[in-house]
Amino acid sequence: MTFENLNLIEPLLRALKTEGYSKPTPIQAQAIPVLLERKDLLGCAQTGTGKTAAFALPILHLLHQDELFVKGPVGIKALILTPTRELAIQIGDSFTAYGKHLRLSHTVIFGGVSQHTQVKALRDGVDILIATPGRLLDLMDQRHVKLQHLKMLVLDEADRMLDMGFIHDVKKVIARVPAKRQTIFFSATMPPEIASLANTILSNPVKVEVTPVSSTANTIQQSVYFVEKNNKRKLLHHLLQDRSIATALVFTRTKHGADRVTRQLNDAGIRAEAIHGNKSQGARQRALSNFKSRKTRVLVATDIAARGIDVEELTHVINFELPNVPETYVHRIGRTGRAGASGISISFCDEEEKEFLDDIQKVIGKKIPVVADHPYPLLHAGMPKPVQQPRAATQRHGHTQNNGKNAQTPAKKKKKWYPKR
Ligand code: AMP
Repeated sequence: MTFENLNLIEPLLRALKTEGYSKPTPIQAQAIPVLLERKDLLGCAQTGTGKTAAFALPILHLLHQDELFVKGPVGIKALILTPTRELAIQIGDSFTAYGKHLRLSHTVIFGGVSQHTQVKALRDGVDILIATPGRLLDLMDQRHVKLQHLKMLVLDEADRMLDMGFIHDVKKVIARVPAKRQTIFFSATMPPEIASLANTILSNPVKVEVTPVSSTANTIQQSVYFVEKNNKRKLLHHLLQDRSIATALVFTRTKHGADRVTRQLNDAGIRAEAIHGNKSQGARQRALSNFKSRKTRVLVATDIAARGIDVEELTHVINFELPNVPETYVHRIGRTGRAGASGISISFCDEEEKEFLDDIQKVIGKKIPVVADHPYPLLHAGMPKPVQQPRAATQRHGHTQNNGKNAQTPAKKKKKWYPKR
């Protein structure tokens, strides 16, 4: 299968050649023909599968054809709703790359920055709008965005929109776009609320699914290190002595944790930067571009900030802390080994995280190989701990020590729905 076989227009084929894409990924091979027939699509695919091009190429193709044959009214023809700014920017970059030989315009709007330049771009007129839901609603309310000529609507990473609390904003936007349209719906997972949203907004959709939700790419070599919580920092330094780790994306559960790990790495002479929601948009973009250009070797990120980070040839993902939602693990390690490249994922697991590891292994349907031979192994239960740190009471699965008084509340384990495998 080639892109030529998919009957994409020549300017797109030329752009794909420049991008170095030799053949469509499975999601592209399945989705593009359906979308070119102007059918609705329900796509179950995670990032890293090439899903952006799976919708961007047909949008560019169809809008270009429409422009050639029927000169319609000026206005936004395609809207892509996506949960995070980073993802929005990257989708915008994809449209720039794929559409470079076409005369279709696009712009990206997201919150956290002044709306001034975004409004100006909208005033100049755009064919394709890529937006996060909150800022879009804001600008719709201010009448800077009008969607009455919309023909194509994409909901990208719908499950993340739900997780991040955007689903009401998304529904409000959908209520204000023309009913007669082509709708494209992508989600890595299909919890009931997402399935019912898909039901209400799609009409006779063709369903396409690539890797099952819970599966991790076979190209990613996964391992887990059991380690005392207090020794994670030393283990990270130890591993990073290995220069074959060219780039590493390190995940922490909290923003505070990301800052701490970054500080400790820099103190140890390892160039690291943090990316999380408390950083300004400018700082996040700077950190990302330093990482992409390899000025910094390590990017320390929280899950939300890392959504959509797409770094070519990212060699390593390190889970400094395991996520409490198993699918997040799948999303995290999907940052490496993208589009068939090989990648390595290393997870640190302390005593308290063993339950998270069990859940992850259940969901991915395999045991992650354990690396026991390292300088900071977790001491076996029953053996005295080297340092008994006074610990804040922890709350796990509803059980609290200290009767919950003064208890810290670490991220609560979320009940999630998983598809039967
Ligand atoms: P996505 O899942 O859309 O985030 O894409 C993941 C990565 O795969 C991005 O870096 C794309 O540039 C890349 N990619 C998408 N389609 C192809 C393709 N057909 N061949 C090679 N790389 C691709």
